[in-house]
Amino acid sequence: MTDFPQHVADLSKDNTDLPENRTEKIPVGISSCLLGERVRYDGGHKKSSYIMDTLGEYFDYRAFCPEMEIGLGVPRETIRLVQQDDTVRVVGSKNPDLDVTDALVASAHQQRDWHQKLFAYIVKKDSPSCGMERVKVFKKDTPHRIGSGFYTKTLMENFPNLPIEEEGRLGDSVLRENFIHRVFIYRRWHELIDSGLTLNKLTDFHARHKLVLFSHNQDAARTLGNSLSNAHKLDLEQYAYSYISALMAILKIPATRRNHVNVLQHIQGYLKQYLDKDDKQELVESIERYRVGQLPLIVPITLLNHYFRKFPNEYIDRSYYLAPHPKELMLLNAL
Ligand code: SF4
Repeated sequence: MTDFPQHVADLSKDNTDLPENRTEKIPVGISSCLLGERVRYDGGHKKSSYIMDTLGEYFDYRAFCPEMEIGLGVPRETIRLVQQDDTVRVVGSKNPDLDVTDALVASAHQQRDWHQKLFAYIVKKDSPSCGMERVKVFKKDTPHRIGSGFYTKTLMENFPNLPIEEEGRLGDSVLRENFIHRVFIYRRWHELIDSGLTLNKLTDFHARHKLVLFSHNQDAARTLGNSLSNAHKLDLEQYAYSYISALMAILKIPATRRNHVNVLQHIQGYLKQYLDKDDKQELVESIERYRVGQLPLIVPITLLNHYFRKFPNEYIDRSYYLAPHPKELMLLNAL
């Protein structure tokens, strides 16, 4: 891993765009029932206090219920995914003549205008409309967890790079951190595009995310870095689209403890000449104890942040690796 060139470092000297320094909320779409709206088939909801209260501090939600949108009303007959020959349809659980497949797909397409202003979407699991994955598909009367809700499936096809997650999966610390981290990065990407893309800015964006990418997948991170070094020969707009697709795909791969250790050790190298024997030993031990699962990631990260406050390094200060999301979310405490 190498640092980034000086002309790129000159692009911005401040860190006001670090997640913890941002105050504007991030626009995020969400299944209405997760915000407590009584839109489920039985007039109930599936309010999640973590989503509403904790993430609500950072996310500005836009709620949408596709089944209400297509006029099913409350209360309503339940619907389900059913295999019919080669296709899957969304039909009434009791009344198979009620087929809302096309209406759900059309509804997702009709929402494109506001969808494209979002930086993430949180959907309700298991729903034949909103579920992202592992939704039951009935073959005869046997359920197979192989489907996606048709509204969300269409949303994913329309916006393949948009971070989308199910509320159920947010209960898993690794998936939760992965999703929220992607959201912050995706917002930065759009801000970069909105500011007017140049190769210099793209190179800077990559440099600031490089260590993050290495914590997810080293080979893929290297490949993406190599592609960037040839970008000057290509149409920048076209390259940018392939770049962000590759970057979001890498970020979807859960970061591993092993890769984090490699990155932590790499960062530690920048402090070599500044730390005395005891401090060095403490840092080495905290990384080792993280490696064997005795300490969470937040411990070596906090220690490194402490040392870089004393001994600043421009490359590390501008990297998002040591400040990936607001501390208050405590996402690194459970990794
Ligand atoms: S899961 Fe989706 S379709 Fe079902 S009630 Fe919630 S928002 Fe509406």
